[in-house]
Amino acid sequence: RSGAETRPFQAEVSRMMDIIIHSLYSNKDIFLRELISNAADALDKIRFLAITDKSQLGEGDASKLEIRLSVDKDKKMISIRDRGVGMTKEELVNNLGTIARSGTSAFLEQMQKGGDLNLIGQFGVGFYSVYLVADYVEVVTKHNDDKQYIWESKADGSYAISEDAEGEPLGRGTQINIYLKDTAMEYLSEDKLKELVQRYSEFINFPILMLETRTESKEVPVEGEDAAEEKPAEEQSEQEKQKAEEAKEGETVEVDDEDEEEEKKPKTKTVTETITEWKALNDNQALWLRPPGNVSDEEYAKFYKALSKREWEEPLAHTHFKAEGDVEFKAVMFVPPTAPQDLYDNYYGKKPSVKLYVRRVFISDSFEDLLPKWLSFLVGLVDSDTMPLNVSREMLQLHEGLKVIKKKLVRKAIDMIKKLADAEVKAQKEAEEKKEEEAKEEEAGEEKKKAEEAAQAYGKFYSAFGKSLKMGIIEDTSNRRRLLPLLRFYSSKSPDKLASLADYVGRMKEGQKHIYYLVGGSKDEVASSPFVEALEEKGYEVLYMTDPLDEYVMQNVQEFEDKEFANVSKEDLKLAGKDEDEKKREKKQKEEFKPLAKWWQEALGSGAVGAVKVSKRLASTPCVVVSSKYGWSATMERIARSQTL
Ligand code: ADP
Ligand code: MG
Repeated sequence: RSGAETRPFQAEVSRMMDIIIHSLYSNKDIFLRELISNAADALDKIRFLAITDKSQLGEGDASKLEIRLSVDKDKKMISIRDRGVGMTKEELVNNLGTIARSGTSAFLEQMQKGGDLNLIGQFGVGFYSVYLVADYVEVVTKHNDDKQYIWESKADGSYAISEDAEGEPLGRGTQINIYLKDTAMEYLSEDKLKELVQRYSEFINFPILMLETRTESKEVPVEGEDAAEEKPAEEQSEQEKQKAEEAKEGETVEVDDEDEEEEKKPKTKTVTETITEWKALNDNQALWLRPPGNVSDEEYAKFYKALSKREWEEPLAHTHFKAEGDVEFKAVMFVPPTAPQDLYDNYYGKKPSVKLYVRRVFISDSFEDLLPKWLSFLVGLVDSDTMPLNVSREMLQLHEGLKVIKKKLVRKAIDMIKKLADAEVKAQKEAEEKKEEEAKEEEAGEEKKKAEEAAQAYGKFYSAFGKSLKMGIIEDTSNRRRLLPLLRFYSSKSPDKLASLADYVGRMKEGQKHIYYLVGGSKDEVASSPFVEALEEKGYEVLYMTDPLDEYVMQNVQEFEDKEFANVSKEDLKLAGKDEDEKKREKKQKEEFKPLAKWWQEALGSGAVGAVKVSKRLASTPCVVVSSKYGWSATMERIARSQTL
């Protein structure tokens, strides 16, 4: 191309493209998902800009927010065209060229570790997946603030940029021309593209159209006689065509009824014509606008996959509801089956993955104040009818309505999690009852599988997101009481199966007033502690708190169902049910050992220990170092020192 400037890619980008273009990765289909998702993002952006400045949209065709696919079999090329925001020359260079995007090196690292290329979109470099199927790509783009440019590259270490003065003017938006590799000719098939759009892009909220070509033979009246005033098909409008079809059908029925009509039929001849038309591939009706009762589990699962871009996963749970009143909105939220790797490493940096829409207009996919940090693992979408549209994101952030939405979302999220927990309890109970009954007839395979899944769902959830619940207890005072029953622990009576606090209370000894717990580094460490030993001997259950967060949690809660929590390693632990004799004996022993305690205190010095006391808490271990009631316990000290949080 004349006047093109050729520039090298930054080394990392070049390396990444090299890996992609030579990849033997079998799931090359994903390129279409990535490009369509970019097109949809660009459409979201222009629609957002148009809220405050309608002229941005342009007029006529340019204002149609849609995505068009077409195939050029001669050139072995497919094109994806959007009427989105487009890119200025500078953006073209920054986004697709010289500068490495922040996810590039992370993505490269993953690829070197044998990671799945399917994840490419999550690293913010999805565009380059086009080189799974192409050996040459042109990006033609027109932004309202700049001229039309063309970017082109053979993924050979460099790209070229030039002003596109001769090309067909786009008006606004981007067209990506994909020249297919010899090994990727299957994508010239319209059926294949159609299938991919249906599989990957069903929930794109813009019409995706494809130029379809088909040949059609039809009977037309021979001219001269009573040639009906039929125009050639190309000149017919859609409506006229449909009318003509309907009319024909009507005729057929009549002919069936009255055979003698046959003779009156006008003379016709067969003509074959080629028809090309833009056909919609998706029905782009927003799922969240439908009444919840009308959406199947399968549709929710598909929607989750589209939203999360993790199509290999099924969600663990979903909630879909409509809030009415001063602040109206619709929301769909999902619990993913696994936690993102960096969920807790980067807890405070994590943004919610619940998208915000206002009256169907996409506003943001990480709106800070939509959900509290502890719920940032949820995937979903909120569409508000009552929030203002024509204000900046910053203003929206301050809007009162947002608080109402947030509060409601949190409640609904907790309900969803609670349901999962309740379902597990129920399923496990049923499974046990079945065992007892010695289930004679084998349950139907499908049902059995469902029951098993329900019985494991909360366990799965808890191992992925239990820490989030704990952070919720620590940070979200207003929901603390709702979250506490959702926690699970191992204990001296339930060392292999996580137990809830309700389970614990249900097993409490008569007269027991406290819920005993011990904090430690591991289950084994806690289980073999002398503190636990003494309590066990007396028949009390001790909860094992082995997650560093547990101690923070316990600092924030005092009781569960009127039973106070008691750390068995704290000095004033009182065991219920002592009789008078025992108390007397204790007093006597304390007197007796006073000199020893005193000697010991002096020997160790006050810098090393706060006090030396005679205690009843041990069974076979002679002495133990404990932390004082108000001091930090050992684990807490460890956390504070290492600044884990
Ligand atoms: P991501 O979409 O995660 O940002 P991509 O590699 O898919 O990463 O795209 C890189 C960037 O290129 C986008 O953020 C966007 O700025 C720009 N871009 C890609 N495709 C288009 C398009 N069709 N219209 C406008 N900008 C686009
Ligand atoms: Mg993208």
